[in-house]
Amino acid sequence: MKSKSVLVIGAGVGGIVAATHLAQHGLKVTVVEKNARPGGRCDRFSRDGHHFDTGPTLLVMPLLYEAEFAALGTSMREQLDLLRVDPTYHLVFDDGSQLALTSDMKSLQEQLEAFERGSFQNFQHYMEEGGRHYHLGIEKLVNRDFRKASEFFRLEHIPLIHQLKPFANHYRNVSAYFDDPRLKAAFTFQDVYMGLSPFEAPATFSMMPYTELAHGVYYPRGGMYSIVEALMKLALDAGVEFIFHAAVEKIDVNATHARGIILKDGQRLEADAVLANADLPYVYNDLLPDKKFAESMSRKRFSCSVVSFFWGLDKTYETLGPHTLFLAHDYRENFERIIRDLSLPANPSLYIHTPARLDPAMSPHGEDTLIAIVPVGHMSQNGEQDWGQIRDEARQQVFRRLASLGVTDIESHIKFEINFTPLSWRKRYNLMKGSTHGLCHNLTQLGYFRPGNKHPRYHNLYFTGASTHPGTGLPTAMISGRLSAQRILDDFRN
Ligand SMILES: Cc1cc2nc3c(=O)[nH]c(=O)nc-3n(C[C@H](O)[C@H](O)[C@H](O)COP(=O)(O)OP(=O)(O)OC[C@H]3O[C@@H](n4cnc5c(N)ncnc54)[C@H](O)[C@@H]3O)c2cc1C
Repeated sequence: MKSKSVLVIGAGVGGIVAATHLAQHGLKVTVVEKNARPGGRCDRFSRDGHHFDTGPTLLVMPLLYEAEFAALGTSMREQLDLLRVDPTYHLVFDDGSQLALTSDMKSLQEQLEAFERGSFQNFQHYMEEGGRHYHLGIEKLVNRDFRKASEFFRLEHIPLIHQLKPFANHYRNVSAYFDDPRLKAAFTFQDVYMGLSPFEAPATFSMMPYTELAHGVYYPRGGMYSIVEALMKLALDAGVEFIFHAAVEKIDVNATHARGIILKDGQRLEADAVLANADLPYVYNDLLPDKKFAESMSRKRFSCSVVSFFWGLDKTYETLGPHTLFLAHDYRENFERIIRDLSLPANPSLYIHTPARLDPAMSPHGEDTLIAIVPVGHMSQNGEQDWGQIRDEARQQVFRRLASLGVTDIESHIKFEINFTPLSWRKRYNLMKGSTHGLCHNLTQLGYFRPGNKHPRYHNLYFTGASTHPGTGLPTAMISGRLSAQRILDDFRN
């Protein structure tokens, strides 16, 4: 097995982690990345002393990171200098009311009771359910792959239908705990991380608000990109070779096997196995010849996209907490406009991140670094969306929302702006339809139904990353990397 070689397409988190596991087992591993640096969607840039994480801004599910760093032979605490973020979010509602989601139960109790009498007790019940969903979901669905249908459709899994509530609608389920629509929104908005609306997400996803409050939300000093730096060090120590600025044009296949890859410059590389970390729908559509597979992939449901603004400000806005979320009162309408109409809602919910509140080094002294993220629909098939206009509307909505918090002068303090639209996401990371989270996590695209880590026809072609099993998010990309590496190792052994 030691003489075997693997080519990895893409240095996203899933690709780096898979490559490291394989190299730690003595395989010769080469990662080929089209961009200048590793990390994929977990990217960053710096300008004039302002440092921006352009993708993930929240380290959630810390227990999963702990387990995955341990599987790589190290520990999360050794690799990352973590700051706990509490309150996790400052929620701002359209009526001006605010809720600071915190693990300080006394403070949370006072706040929740002010919204709705008796709601704190119901919140505790909701957390109990979320805890059950988290522990069972991670153990039975996330932390393992399903190589055969028989591994998923087992008698012992039948109780999960009751325990995990996969067939119950998340919003309807949360409505059994709270009457106040603001609280229903406060404990379901996290579904958008899965690319889903709470009006269609399975109630299983109450695991997200649970883990955020029970296990905490963290921020690594130096920004989220320090996760990529830590993973890269482990990969290089294990002997993984990286080639940057090298876009793959095709995966070279015969009827049953992948022979290697062909780069844009015509260079051909060969290996015993190919592992694609580039987003799965793109791989099927652009790198593989079979149009039938590609079409079935294009027909799957994609997650939404976002318009992101990165602003260097010449003034500090201490009143803004690290993670502020404006939740629109027309909550359902918001999701419908994004998911059904592939558009920007008239009154969008949106998110503001000021990393210097957590780590002052993210901004020059006396200035500020601000990231605004506005969820929008993914790119439509016929391309009729005017992304320039949508971006400009989104920017005005951010200014309007900030003004409601008393931040009225931000426009005149912007030193520079960089923005990303769905077109940027597609171009930078080859994300089909500019969908930031790839395939979404509705019931028919979860567990065994989510594309697995191996191609059904080519015996030595494997997949890892957000659109494969188990799904989107940084810790899940680490799990996906481990599972796909395990699959390759098992196949080589047999
Ligand atoms: C705006 C945004 C916010 C997010 N927020 C969070 C968050 O707060 N917390 C969290 O946990 N997760 C968050 N996520 C999700 C998380 O970033 C992703 O799920 C994760 O990074 C995906 O990793 P991946 O392994 O799928 O690889 P990707 O990041 O998709 O990387 C794939 C790599 O393949 C490369 N590639 C593509 N095509 C080719 C080719 N032809 N040749 C060579 N290389 C190629 C790409 O350039 C890229 O580097 C967020 C994502 C976005 C976009």
